[in-house]
Amino acid sequence: MNSTNSNTNNHSASTAPAVLRGLASRGYSITGQRRCLVEFIVSHSRHFTAEDLLNDLRDEGVKVGRATVFRTLDLLERTGYVGRVRDGERMAYTACGMEGHHHHLVCSSCGQVLHLEGCPVAGMLEEIQSRTGYRIQHHSLEVAGVCPSCQR
Ligand SMILES: [Zn+2]
Ligand SMILES: [Zn+2]
Ligand SMILES: [Zn+2]
Repeated sequence: MNSTNSNTNNHSASTAPAVLRGLASRGYSITGQRRCLVEFIVSHSRHFTAEDLLNDLRDEGVKVGRATVFRTLDLLERTGYVGRVRDGERMAYTACGMEGHHHHLVCSSCGQVLHLEGCPVAGMLEEIQSRTGYRIQHHSLEVAGVCPSCQR
């Protein structure tokens, strides 16, 4: 279980230069379009779908092809800079500033996403593991609610 997140706070958002540096250090080339998309994606504090992203890009007059958007989302998800969250029935993406294993708290009213430090169920999983003899490989936990500003 990964618990290397202890120094990050719950509200950290990724910054585009940090993501681009991270991608470059893993050997991914930074094209103009990729840079533009990364900047666009990390500026979303709320969750978004690929369609939302395409609509926003069109509204802003940014010309990026559909395939490039899907490829970039895929790359960012594989490298951990983008995570998936569920909003009711639909799956959405969120930009992740926090590296490594973590969980999300989603506002079901405005779509804001908080990235929760550490794993609240780590102890429980260890207990299950020793009780059942399973070697647990992955788990998911998603928490949804209404954020303070939507409660007002
Ligand atoms: Zn996250
Ligand atoms: Zn909200
Ligand atoms: Zn966990």
